[in-house]
Amino acid sequence: MNSHQSNLVIYDYIIVGSGLAGLYSAFNIPEKYKVLILTKTMPWECNSFYAQGGISVPKDDKDIYLHIEDTIKAGAGSCDISAVETLVKDGRKEIDKLISMGLNFDKTVDGKLLYTKEGAHSTDRILHIGGDATGRYLHSFLIHNLKHNIWTNSQVIDILVDNSRAYGVTVYIDGIIENLYCKNLILASGGIGRLYKYSTNATTVSGDIHGIAIEKGIKLRDMEMLQFHPTTLLSQNNETFLISEALRGEGAYVVDEDGDRFLFKYDKRGELASRDIVSRAIIKHPKQAFLSISHFKRDWFINRFPTISRLLKNYGFNITDDLIPISPAFHYTIGGIETDLYGRIPNYINLYAVGEVASTGVHGANRLASNSLLEAIVFSNRAVQHSLNNQHLNIYTHKNFPKSNKKLILNGDDFIKKELSNLLWKYVSIERRGAELQMVLDKIDVLLRNENGRLIKLNLLVAREVIISALKNNKSQGAHFRADS
Ligand SMILES: Cc1cc2nc3c(=O)[nH]c(=O)nc-3n(C[C@H](O)[C@H](O)[C@H](O)COP(=O)(O)OP(=O)(O)OC[C@H]3O[C@@H](n4cnc5c(N)ncnc54)[C@H](O)[C@@H]3O)c2cc1C
Repeated sequence: MNSHQSNLVIYDYIIVGSGLAGLYSAFNIPEKYKVLILTKTMPWECNSFYAQGGISVPKDDKDIYLHIEDTIKAGAGSCDISAVETLVKDGRKEIDKLISMGLNFDKTVDGKLLYTKEGAHSTDRILHIGGDATGRYLHSFLIHNLKHNIWTNSQVIDILVDNSRAYGVTVYIDGIIENLYCKNLILASGGIGRLYKYSTNATTVSGDIHGIAIEKGIKLRDMEMLQFHPTTLLSQNNETFLISEALRGEGAYVVDEDGDRFLFKYDKRGELASRDIVSRAIIKHPKQAFLSISHFKRDWFINRFPTISRLLKNYGFNITDDLIPISPAFHYTIGGIETDLYGRIPNYINLYAVGEVASTGVHGANRLASNSLLEAIVFSNRAVQHSLNNQHLNIYTHKNFPKSNKKLILNGDDFIKKELSNLLWKYVSIERRGAELQMVLDKIDVLLRNENGRLIKLNLLVAREVIISALKNNKSQGAHFRADS
């Protein structure tokens, strides 16, 4: 519930975002601390809630090495090896902690954890809940166990930082702009997905905090590394719905209208090649791509993929007889605000970024499927443990910041937003070319010279950063494909 402050309150922690990274941060902060979670709209409107496939985790000690190896392979030689080792080793511990707290992953009839496989994993190591509703269950579990305060419809429009310290945030809430102060600031605001015309992402995920970081001179890394999901269902009003990779993991085929499993012409792993390869193959192939699920037993399919089955039924598909038309869409922001292995933003003593907003170096140039939920829990916990040991909780000195009077939205911003999302989708997506990137950059620079509403300005700054990174990197690598090199 929201409540406004008349007296100055200094929170021990402010957490921006109520996805998995934000909620798991809160989950790990003892109740005695004064914690406030701010979330843009409703708590569930986040990518975490929509996650379907599951969460990767090494099955046993032997799998630790393999999981590390698969992650590094998917990352196309660019992963930070110590970040990957941290992810995998801490990952098992965090999952076991959640299980011991009562989180119920899907199990076999004899009560063993049920692992599935996804693209580029060399073995079955994806845990899931409710078949294909992992994110929803994880999110609900954390909301159910939430012991701290959360303010809904609270959009952070600035962060208050000075001289290597974070002091709080400026938030827009109920038509009012106010400054809120804290001893530790955790940014858990997700990726940039909604800047793109076609996106699987939640409506709240539009890189506001990335834009603010750019303004403050905070370093973003690998922003050209954006992952496009090959299998989304496009509705008539251009909304995209993810059809989880777990379908292909369980054996669904990708075929064209002639029934040809054409992916094998592009990669010997066929349906299980990495997402960038499958996405490029689908846009290159001259015929429409479909998912074929007719070889699955209907009851098994509905039980294993209840969310997707409901979605398909609502769109009039006959399960499992009909072919499902698919096309790629923006899915995951690999790059982000650079952090160390404790989620700490370099040069700041009490500012952390965790989850999709951060770049820990875990994913390198391409994210291995289902590693991101794991990253969110591992690094949010590490950030909290680091901050609890950080004497900053005790030595905070207050600094007042003037209230912002910037207009959030100006006339015409909606048009710019739409135009930007078209340009990004057309020229800064699955395949990039230098001349086209430069053309979009020039347009953005012109727009940035005008007076802009605060929110569209942040969008433009983020898009600019993606393009500059894409222009600088003229070699194809992982998710970044330069068609002109
Ligand atoms: C459809 C879909 C399916 C996926 N499936 C999987 C999967 O099966 N396995 C897997 O590992 N990964 C999956 N992913 C990726 C994964 O869900 C995300 O990477 C992960 O959930 C990110 O968690 P997060 O907490 O960092 O961000 P999010 O869950 O996106 O949360 C971001 C939060 O920040 C808030 N926020 C943003 N800006 C502001 C602001 N200015 N002010 C206040 N609040 C703000 C939002 O409202 C939201 O609460 C999937 C993603 C999508 C979109």
